[in-house]
Amino acid sequence: MPHRPIYLDCNATTPVAPQVLAAMLPFFTDYFGNPSSLNHSYGWEAEAGVTKARAQLAAAINAEPEEIIFTSGATESNNLAIKGVAEAYLATGKHIVTVATEHNAVLDPCRYLETLGFSVTYLPVRADGLIDLQQLSQALRSETILVSVMMANNEIGVIQPIAEIGQMCGDRNILFHTDAAQALGKLPIDVQAMNIHLLSMTAHKLYGPKGIGALYVRRRNPRVQLAPQLHGGGQEKGLRSGTLYTPQIVGFGAATALAISEQSVEGERLRGLRDRLWHHLGKIPSIHLNGHPTQRLPNNLNVSIEGVNGAALLSMLQPDVALSSGSACSSANLAPSHVIKALGRSDELASATLRFGLGRETTQTEIDHVGEIVVRAVRMARKA
Ligand SMILES: *Cc1c(COP(=O)(O)O)cnc(C)c1O
Repeated sequence: MPHRPIYLDCNATTPVAPQVLAAMLPFFTDYFGNPSSLNHSYGWEAEAGVTKARAQLAAAINAEPEEIIFTSGATESNNLAIKGVAEAYLATGKHIVTVATEHNAVLDPCRYLETLGFSVTYLPVRADGLIDLQQLSQALRSETILVSVMMANNEIGVIQPIAEIGQMCGDRNILFHTDAAQALGKLPIDVQAMNIHLLSMTAHKLYGPKGIGALYVRRRNPRVQLAPQLHGGGQEKGLRSGTLYTPQIVGFGAATALAISEQSVEGERLRGLRDRLWHHLGKIPSIHLNGHPTQRLPNNLNVSIEGVNGAALLSMLQPDVALSSGSACSSANLAPSHVIKALGRSDELASATLRFGLGRETTQTEIDHVGEIVVRAVRMARKA
């Protein structure tokens, strides 16, 4: 392959790990059976792969295997959790609480529910990107059925106080959903200790394949009711019909087990590299770190730089380093990020934002190189 840019967009997606691909391959060709075909060994082989993956995912978050529902990714998991709860708990109430900095895969289902007569509170965040627990407490009403707060933010990496939110929701008998797409494999997750009722996951942020995710749905204390959003063959306890995508499911399980096994060691390594990058970039005058300085993902750095045109800066960096200005989903549109805006940054500053997502393949040499390149590019952009 020709020389390619240094990849620092791991909050957008990651490559499939070689061991993960190796685990998947036999399920395309040899073990191709339908895992629901339980009358013959082709089905049993495929089912064994799914069963193993389900157990690997459950173990990663301290859940039971039967509480894992496979979906096509975190977008679908968020939709199923939010719309599924809204429909199932209509008689209890029509109020949902979420946060202004959520992923669009949470915000858009909430906006859609507003058109159906639900009311949604979008909590603001403090300047450091964290929610104020007292504001959350004040937002809860007797008709509140669901609180949805992401575990770790995909743009600025901040980690919300999930256990405290879980406790508050538990005390008030309100269901708690968290989008853990960025957190799985990077942060310890315990759905029991954190009192989480629904949790969204995706494989492609942790070196698994794209197009596969899961939703944890609590079955005890309390048993969560969900209205399915896809109807058909009744797979996944009727919550998500459709033939299971066996190779992807096997890859998701393998990727998760691998990430969990190296979570603390790799987290320390990434945190060291990330802090080193921030040390380099700190030489730039009038640069601002977005999000809480320490309560954040180990692999994420997000900065806004005064006095430069963000699009121009990104294109100056493009041949050397692959990164984005915000979430990949919105990088095609030029509007400033809703997440950076929610921190209280101006449109102009929000537009001059760089998100660095470090990963398993990132080296110290790369970080030092990128640090130099960015410092130089900003100097040039400010002169222009
Ligand atoms: C990537 C991401 C999603 C979307 O996940 P897909 O699997 O691509 O649908 C949702 N939420 C967060 C926080 C993400 O980072």
